Amino acid sequence: MELIFELSSPGRGAAAQHPPVAADLSAIPEALRRKEPPRLPEVSELQAVRHYTRLSRLNFSIDTQFYPLGSCTMKYNPRACNKLAMLPEFLGRHPLAPESHSQGYLACLYELQEMLRDVTGMAAVSLTPMAGAQGEFAGVAMIRAYHHARGDTARREILVPDAAHGTNPATATMLGYVAREIPTDAQGDVDIEKLKAAVGPQTAGIMLTNPSTLGVFERRIKEIAGIVHTAGGLLYYDGANLNAILGKVRPGDMGFDVIHMNLHKTFSTPHGGGGPGAGAVGVSERLRPFMPIPVVGVADGRENREKGDLGSLASNDSRFSTPDSRSYRWLDENDLPQSIGRLSAFMGNAGVLMRAYVYARLLGREGMHRVAEFAALNANYLSARLKAVGFDLAYPTRRASHEFIITLKKQKQELDLTATDVAKRLLDHGYHAPTVYFPLLVPECLLIEPTETEDLQTLDAFVDAMTSIWNEARSDMPKLKGAPWTLPVRRLDDVRCARQLDLRWQPAP
Ligand SMILES: *Cc1c(COP(=O)(O)O)cnc(C)c1O
Repeated sequence: MELIFELSSPGRGAAAQHPPVAADLSAIPEALRRKEPPRLPEVSELQAVRHYTRLSRLNFSIDTQFYPLGSCTMKYNPRACNKLAMLPEFLGRHPLAPESHSQGYLACLYELQEMLRDVTGMAAVSLTPMAGAQGEFAGVAMIRAYHHARGDTARREILVPDAAHGTNPATATMLGYVAREIPTDAQGDVDIEKLKAAVGPQTAGIMLTNPSTLGVFERRIKEIAGIVHTAGGLLYYDGANLNAILGKVRPGDMGFDVIHMNLHKTFSTPHGGGGPGAGAVGVSERLRPFMPIPVVGVADGRENREKGDLGSLASNDSRFSTPDSRSYRWLDENDLPQSIGRLSAFMGNAGVLMRAYVYARLLGREGMHRVAEFAALNANYLSARLKAVGFDLAYPTRRASHEFIITLKKQKQELDLTATDVAKRLLDHGYHAPTVYFPLLVPECLLIEPTETEDLQTLDAFVDAMTSIWNEARSDMPKLKGAPWTLPVRRLDDVRCARQLDLRWQPAP
C-alpha cells in the first residue's frame, strides 16, 4: 500500500478543483511566514480519488462487514435518521439564533427529552453531555451536588462493581471520590454480601450497568437499590446497554436516581472511530434541580411576556408556533439555580440529538420493544449455536441480555489458543473481531454483541467462521498463530505498538 506522498510527482495537481488564489499575506508578520512551501503530495485528482477510495476499502465498517463488538453496540443506523438530521434547516441553524426562530428545533429536542424520559422511567432529561463518559461525569456531579446541598459532605466513596466499564471508576475519581470495587459472584451478579459489607455512611452512591458488561441482567437490582438507598447513597445507571431493555424495563422503576444514555450507541449515530456522541442524562425527582443546563422547557405565555423579548413572538405569530401551539424555551441558571452548570457549548451535540429524535420517532413505542427483543434474540441464538460448536460460555446458566462472553481459558491451557488468535483469524473471514480481554475478570474472553440489526444468515455465517477456527485449532495451529493473512497489516507486536508507536512519515532525504 503506497502512501499518498509516494505517489507525488512535482508539479502535478488538480488545478480544476482549486484554482490558485493570490494570497495576501501582508497581515501575517514576516517572522511568522513560512520560508518554504509545505511538502504536500502533488497528485492528480484521479490519483487522489483512487488513493482514498482504496483506503476506505481497507476499513472494516458496518456498511461492509459484521461488527460484533461487545459493550459498544456497533449496529446499523438507518440512513433515514442521517438524512433527516442533515436537512439544511437543522444543519444551517445558527447556535445563537433566538428562541423565537428555533421553535421547530426546540420542539424536536423537547420531544426527545420526553421520549427518553418515558422509556427510562426518569423524572426529567437533559441532553447536553457530549459522550457517555461526560454523561457519567454529569451524573456523579449531580450526586455530589445533592449530598452537598443537604450539608452531607462526609460521603467519600462511590461503589463500582468489578465488571464495570473503565469510565465508571475514572468518573468517580475525577469528581474526588474513592472508587470502591464490589466483586461479582459466580453467576455474574453483584455479590450482595460484599455489597452489604461495603455500604455505609461514607457511601455517596453506586454505579451499575444493567444488563452488565457480562451480558447478564442484574436480577436483585431492587434489593441492591434498597441497600444503597437505606445507607443514604444514590444509584447511577450506566445506560450503554440500553438496547437490551428498551421499552421492557425501566431504570427509573428499578430504583435508579440518575442514568446516562449513549445516544450514539442505542439511538442511531454511528460511533466507530471516536466520532461525535451524546450522553443524555435522566434524573429522578430529587436530582432534578441539579441537571446540567440548558434544558428545553415549555414556555407558558406569562413567563414569556415577563422575559419580554424572545418568547412573545413565538406565542403571537403563527409562523413560529408549533402545531400544538405550545412554545418552547431554554431553561438556564435562572430556572435551575442549583444546576451543576454547563458541560458543552450551546445545547450539546445537535446532529447526534437530531438523529436520536428521528430514530425514536421512526421506531415509536412498538419499535423500541422490537429493538430489545431482537437484541436479546440474536445474542441468545448466537450464544446457543457457539456453545453447540464447543465454545465455553462464561456464564452458561444465564440467559444472554444482548451480548455474551466466551472464555477460552480451557483451550488456552490445552491448545495454547488465545482470544487474540481467534480475533485475528476472524479478520481473515471478513468479520470485525469482537471485544477481547474485556471485561477484565473473565480470562481469555471474547465479548460478542451481534446487535438487533443483523439477520439470521449473517449470524449463521459467523458461526461457520467460528466453527472453522475451532477446527483449525486442532488441525493447523500455525494458521491461527500467524493470522491475519489477508489484511494489508499482519499480526503486530501489541506491546511494541503501545510502547513504541511511531506513525510519523519522514520524506526521503
Ligand atoms: C461505551 C461505554 C461507556 C462510555 O461511553 P462513551 O460514549 O464512549 O464515553 C461507558 N460504559 C459502558 C458500559 C460503555 O460500553
